[in-house]
Amino acid sequence: MPCPPAKSKHASFVAGERVSVMLPLPLGGAYDYRVPDGLTLAVGDFVTVPLASRHITGVVWGVGEGQVAEQKTKNVSARLDAPPLPDTSRHFVEWVARYTVCPPGAVLKMAMSVPAALNPPRPVTAFALAETTPEVRLTPARQRVIQVLSDGPPRPATELAREAGVGPSVARGLVGAGVLVARSLPQRAARAAPDWRCPGPALSTNQSTAASALKAMVVADEFAVTLLDGVPGSGKTEVYFEAVAETLKRGRQVLVMLPEIALGAQWMERFCARFGAAPAEWHSDLSQAQRRLTWRTVAEGRKRIVVGARSALFLPFPDLGLIVIDEEHDAAFKQEEGVVYSARDMAVVRARLGDIPLVLASATPSLETFENARAGRYAIQHLPDRHAGASLPDVALVDMRSDAPSSGRWLSQTLLDAIKGTLEAGEQAMLFLNRRGYAPLTLCRTCGHRLQCPRCTAWLVEHRKVERLQCHHCGYRARLPKLCPSCDAEGTLAACGPGVERLAEEVRERFPDARQAVAASDTLTGPRAAADLVRSIEEHHVDLLIGTQIVAKGHHFPMLTLVGVVDADLGLAGGDLRAAERTYQLLYQVAGRAGRAERPGRVLVQTYMPESTVMQTLVSGERQSFLDAEAKDRRNAGMPPFGRLAAVVVSGRDEDAVDEAARTLGRAAPRTNDIQVLGPAPAPLALLRGRHRRRLLLKAGRDVNVQAALRSWLAAARVPRSVRVRVDVDPYSFL
Ligand code: ADP
Ligand code: ZN
Repeated sequence: MPCPPAKSKHASFVAGERVSVMLPLPLGGAYDYRVPDGLTLAVGDFVTVPLASRHITGVVWGVGEGQVAEQKTKNVSARLDAPPLPDTSRHFVEWVARYTVCPPGAVLKMAMSVPAALNPPRPVTAFALAETTPEVRLTPARQRVIQVLSDGPPRPATELAREAGVGPSVARGLVGAGVLVARSLPQRAARAAPDWRCPGPALSTNQSTAASALKAMVVADEFAVTLLDGVPGSGKTEVYFEAVAETLKRGRQVLVMLPEIALGAQWMERFCARFGAAPAEWHSDLSQAQRRLTWRTVAEGRKRIVVGARSALFLPFPDLGLIVIDEEHDAAFKQEEGVVYSARDMAVVRARLGDIPLVLASATPSLETFENARAGRYAIQHLPDRHAGASLPDVALVDMRSDAPSSGRWLSQTLLDAIKGTLEAGEQAMLFLNRRGYAPLTLCRTCGHRLQCPRCTAWLVEHRKVERLQCHHCGYRARLPKLCPSCDAEGTLAACGPGVERLAEEVRERFPDARQAVAASDTLTGPRAAADLVRSIEEHHVDLLIGTQIVAKGHHFPMLTLVGVVDADLGLAGGDLRAAERTYQLLYQVAGRAGRAERPGRVLVQTYMPESTVMQTLVSGERQSFLDAEAKDRRNAGMPPFGRLAAVVVSGRDEDAVDEAARTLGRAAPRTNDIQVLGPAPAPLALLRGRHRRRLLLKAGRDVNVQAALRSWLAAARVPRSVRVRVDVDPYSFL
């Protein structure tokens, strides 16, 4: 069925009129085109237009602006048979572009990430048995095909061949013989949709208070943000599922955003258990066919619920009624490539433009979100207790200065004893070390040479399992050399420091009978592998889990009673603005994996800085005092959320050109009472993927229009084309 033209508030444009068309390209703005005879267009329509010698698909953005002489204006080529881009999506594209100081076309590109979905799905050809069967010779293969079709609906050729276990030519032969007929199916049978009528669990008093508040937001149907602040295992997911159910009941669409797909497997199971069917998924791990189907059905308003990573925010929901951001504090919501944006912050914008509610859920909300709650901009709901009386784990510090393991070992005696006890009790333990691979550094014992990435300011990480050295920044891979590349000595290259692989080695030595598993982003390739691992832990086929941050969040393992943090200080090094906050969040989440059911949990944190605020807060559980201290520091320093930051990163292959451009930018920098520009200085990753990098940091008061300052600054400084200037508003990564 072709889509009807847009029913929009806007007038339609008829033949001869000029419209502006936004193209998904990093251009200055929209271009004018004329509506040709026989076509009527409306704002939001997807159209193809000529650009230079190409044809490009774009979106009708509004009335033509007349920037091109009337006679030079080219015609729109065609209107695509797709639902129009909703008004809110258009406004969102413009808003994100303004905020991130990116061309709107670059943002639109994210909203048009599946060009194939702009054409209606092709009808599927399926095969059915003919009404009357002619006399033909039936080979066993043909018989199997007939058998399959005799007790089921018509099937597409590939499906039929698979089910009957025959080659693709068999069905065609049977059509030729008149035994089968081909039919055109308009669309694949839709999968079952999640059903809000499915009953949820009986909620505790606290849970139902929070759930009622969230449902009330959905009913009020206007912009509002609520922070759902609950300890791990308090039932945040169950609570926001109530708001999801309320939205589905009203026939509206819902978007739930999760930081990582690794978290997805258990979440999906929970969702299916609650709603009887799976939601649509949106992340980088989908096939093109899945993307196409999801984008299209979301645009048509037929898919009501999507769970996805940050890019799901740009799906063309025509009737979005609720957004939920789970683990709102997670840095994975920040996109660092292309258009640099925070999906958490932009979700707030999306909710405001759509005038709909937003739920932010976390056990460790970000300081930004807390400040918004404190200032009354966000409402807050607390879930202070774990579900069903499970207690929060006991956290103790292991002072590595007095309990240090021998050289080349990483586990203290205290932690070893605790693991032993846990295993003897038939329970599970987890060791957390946020480092992939075998060793983070390889060093020559003779000359001290360190193996470095040739393209980045970074050490090569040894991955012993695959016998490779890897750069974790650019993906460079090499074999471990036999001789030191600097002094030619043989057999002197030594691994320094531990990664999860090396830790696994130590654990195997100490506990040879324990069944262990390693979980890191490079050992778990894709959601299936992650789901399998989760299941084998749930079914207790694993005694000892060794993992990076991939295991930190979301999971619920009833038999896991001991968590050991191997190197708690890892995230505190380096001058990152949020180092303490992030370390606290991460370690708190990791600790939250212990003792989630009847059996109490215990957490041992190995640190060389037991007196630091982060470590002390982990033990005391007094989150508020930690946050107050953090907030005070940042307020005094004028740092976010009490001031604004924007990074400008200049990069290129020619170091001199990069330096020159950075200095030019430095000279043109705005300097007022309220704006300070630091740098240029080499970025911590001064070389990345073969590109030299210099940074400038703009620091401004809360009320400064940073975007305006950036725009006029960048316009005032001319840099050569060989140098790239990237703007990062509200930077999270200081590399
Ligand atoms: P959080 O998201 O806060 O970490 P979850 O929603 O994952 O907490 O809940 C933790 C566990 O407790 C899950 O297995 C969940 O199904 C269970 N749970 C939470 N609330 C209830 C409830 N009211 N009734 C039954 N089970 C619940
Ligand atoms: Zn590299």
